[in-house]
Amino acid sequence: MNRYNLTIHQAHQLLKNGEASSLELTRALLEHIARVENKVHAFVTVTEDEALRQAAQADERIKGGDLTPLTGVPVLIKDNMCTRGIATTCSSRMLENFIPPYDATVVEKLNQVGMVMVGKGNMDEFAMGSSNEHSAFYPTCNPWDLSRVPGGSSGGPAVGVAAGEAVYALGSDTGGSIRLPAGFCNIVGLKPTYGRVSRYGLVAFASSLDQIGPMTRDVTDSALVMNVIAGYDPKDSTSVNYTVPDYTESLIPDLKGLKLGVPREYFVEGMQKCVEEVMRTAIATLEELGATVDWEVSLPHTKYALAAYYIIAPSEAMANLARYDGVKYGFSYEGESMWDAMEKTRGYGFGPEVKRRIILGTYALSAGYYDAYYLKAQKMRTLIRREFEEAFERYDALITPTSPTVPFKIGEKVDDPLQMYLSDVCTLPINIAGIPGLVVPAGFCDGLPVSMQILGKPFSEEMLFRTGFAYEQATGWWERRPEI
Ligand code: GLN
Repeated sequence: MNRYNLTIHQAHQLLKNGEASSLELTRALLEHIARVENKVHAFVTVTEDEALRQAAQADERIKGGDLTPLTGVPVLIKDNMCTRGIATTCSSRMLENFIPPYDATVVEKLNQVGMVMVGKGNMDEFAMGSSNEHSAFYPTCNPWDLSRVPGGSSGGPAVGVAAGEAVYALGSDTGGSIRLPAGFCNIVGLKPTYGRVSRYGLVAFASSLDQIGPMTRDVTDSALVMNVIAGYDPKDSTSVNYTVPDYTESLIPDLKGLKLGVPREYFVEGMQKCVEEVMRTAIATLEELGATVDWEVSLPHTKYALAAYYIIAPSEAMANLARYDGVKYGFSYEGESMWDAMEKTRGYGFGPEVKRRIILGTYALSAGYYDAYYLKAQKMRTLIRREFEEAFERYDALITPTSPTVPFKIGEKVDDPLQMYLSDVCTLPINIAGIPGLVVPAGFCDGLPVSMQILGKPFSEEMLFRTGFAYEQATGWWERRPEI
C-alpha cells in the first residue's frame, strides 16, 4: 500500500498496527505534494515544518496509547478557517498577510485529537465562486483533467484530497462550496445541517448560510470527521445544543425500508445527457439495495432558489465585508485622507467577484429596494424550507444530481457571472433550507466525475451516511483515483 491516497481509516490501521508512524505518513505526503503541487495548485500555504512537528507529537501520543481515528492523520484546511500563527488569507489580497491570533473551533477540536495539518487550501476569494478561478493568487486545476476547474469555492481542499496531497480536508459551504468541488473531483463532501458544526473562526461570507464540513475519500471518513467536529459551541450562538451521535453506527450496507424521493426540478433544462444517465443508473442501484424510490416528487419552488440566494448571500456578504476598512485587518493602503485610504484599501484589496457581491448586496438592501428584493427573497426562503419539510414527512431522503454538468474548462465561465452562478442550481436550495446534503461519487462521463447528492431533514446526517455508504459499497466509484 502506498503512503498517500489512503483513507482515514486505512491510515489509522497503519498507525494502530505500528506499520507506519505519523511522521512517515506525513513525510510521504509532503514528498507527494512537492511532486504534484506545481500541476494542481491546491494549496495557498504548505505548512511543512508545522506538520512535521505535529506528526512527531502525534507519534508521542500514540506511543502513550492515546490513539483516536484522526490522531496523526494529515489534513488540509480551507484557507478561510483561522489557524493560530499561520496565515489565513481567504485567497484574497485583503488578508494576504493576516496571521490569526486564535484557532477556529473546528481546528481546535482537531488539535485536541492530535491533528497534523499539511497546509491551507486554495479557494475562490472569500468563498465566492464555483470554480476556484476567483482566487486572487492562482486557479486550482482539476486532477482528472488539468485544463478543467475543480469546482469551488473549496476547490483546493477537494483537489488536495483527490490528488493524494492530504488524507482529508475541511471545507465550507454557503451555496455548494463543499459539494460542487467534491463532486467534480470524485470525493465525498458533506454540508452538515446549519448549526451542527461551529462557525467560530470561519471567516464569514453569508452567516445564515455558511457551514463547515468534511471532504473525504469515502463516507466512513466523513462520519469519522463529523464525530470530532460536530457539536455545540458556546462561542457560536447559531450552533445547536443537540447530542452528537456516533456517526459510524449509521454505516449499514443496505437500504431496506427506506423511502427515497427524486425531485424532478433538479433535472434542469440544459443538464448534460450523460450526467442524467449516470443519475438514473445510480438511483436504480439504490432501489436494488432495498429502498423504495418515488421518481416523481415535485418541489416547485426550487426554480426560485437561485434568485433568492443571489439576493440573500450578497446582502449578508456586504455587511460581513464592511469590516475590511484597512484599519482592523490585513491589507491597508496609505491614503491622503481616511476616506481615500478606505476607498483604495477596498479598491485594491478585493477582487472583481467580491466587489460584484458587495454592489449587489448594497443595492438589494438600500431604501426602496429592500422590500422589493431582500424581503421577497426571505419570504421565498420560508417557502423553500416548508416545501422540504413537507417532502421529508413522506421521504427519508431525497436524491438529486450535484450539478447539471461535468467539470467545465478553466476560462469557460469566468467572464459570465450568470453562467457561473448556474453551476450551483442543485446545491443552493439546501443552504437556503438549512438542511444537510451529502455528495458521493456516482460515475464518469468521458473520464470526468459525476456525483449524486443525498438530502435529508435537519440533523438527519445519519440517514445520509447510511444511504451514501450503502451506495458506495455497492458501486466503488470512490476508489478511482486520477493519474497526475
Ligand atoms: N458558488 C456559490 C457562490 O459563489 C456558493 C459558494 C459557497 O458555497 N461558498 O456564492
